[in-house]
Amino acid sequence: MRLILLGPPGAGKGTQAQHIVERHGVVQLSTGDMLRAAVKAGTPVGLKAKDIMASGGLVPDEVVVGIIADRIEEPDAKNGFILDGFPRTVPQAEALDKLLKSKGLALDAVIELRVNEGALLRRVETRIAEMKARGEAVRADDTPEVLSQRLANYRAQTEPLVDYYGEKRKLATIDGMKSIEEVTADIKRVLDALSESAARPVKSRKPAAKKAKAKKAAKAASAGRSAKKAKAVKKATKKAAKTVVKKAAKKAAPKRAAAQKAKKSAKPAARKAKTAARRGAAKGARRGSKASSRPVKKVTKKRAKAAGRLTKRG
Ligand code: ADP
Repeated sequence: MRLILLGPPGAGKGTQAQHIVERHGVVQLSTGDMLRAAVKAGTPVGLKAKDIMASGGLVPDEVVVGIIADRIEEPDAKNGFILDGFPRTVPQAEALDKLLKSKGLALDAVIELRVNEGALLRRVETRIAEMKARGEAVRADDTPEVLSQRLANYRAQTEPLVDYYGEKRKLATIDGMKSIEEVTADIKRVLDALSESAARPVKSRKPAAKKAKAKKAAKAASAGRSAKKAKAVKKATKKAAKTVVKKAAKKAAPKRAAAQKAKKSAKPAARKAKTAARRGAAKGARRGSKASSRPVKKVTKKRAKAAGRLTKRG
């Protein structure tokens, strides 16, 4: 697991990083701790960083990027790491992206601890008092004046990373104003959800999505088919009715025969056919001509025969 803890000084990054280290067996990489160690050891980096740190300024990007590049190469970082205090500027974040990419590694999440500034000042004051009470050396930059400088730097240089990682869909923001235990629990929830989605095999995720898609498509197709079917039935019924009406009218068949055909061809058309037959017969009778009466006779015979057969069978 590779994480970044983002938040202003005093937000509780160090405290929460410790919990994550215990739970996930990863290392905490704090650039602040590394720089303080370098200052203490009097290394070239330490000499460069000393005054900058004491005044609350930021150590040059290339210095911290160099430190991180070397540190993540060490064996204990192979299992994953939590970056605390790095990246602190957009160029550092871009350098980290490049670095991880060149090693074929990916970042899992960026956890932002959001706190209000008034609370930060009170927290740092309490921290200073507690350290003094324990007889510990207080950090040179842990004074109210330097703290406001560190806060100003955070707002100007580090806060843009919230958008930077938000756009990359890596950001999880947690309310850092809650108690330490609650914040720990909230971070745990985020990390558990991450591990769950990472543990789910990609294969099983895809077919599920595919299955759902196929089901949807099948449903749509079947809806389309039944709509088509209904349309076809409607059309056929209409056509049958039309044919019957036309024939019946043309041939002026007797009431019973026409009605029988209409009934046989299409039920809903029967009534129409009856009416049409009645009208046709009346028309034929009015005309009384041979041309119009001959086919009528023929059809009548046929119909009578058919009707007879039907009656016999039934
Ligand atoms: P904070 O409690 O302010 O987060 P840190 O312990 O992380 O403090 O860092 C202490 C000081 O070390 C910072 O004020 C800064 O001068 C320097 N520093 C730490 N990390 C970085 C970094 N990524 N880039 C530049 N400077 C850094």
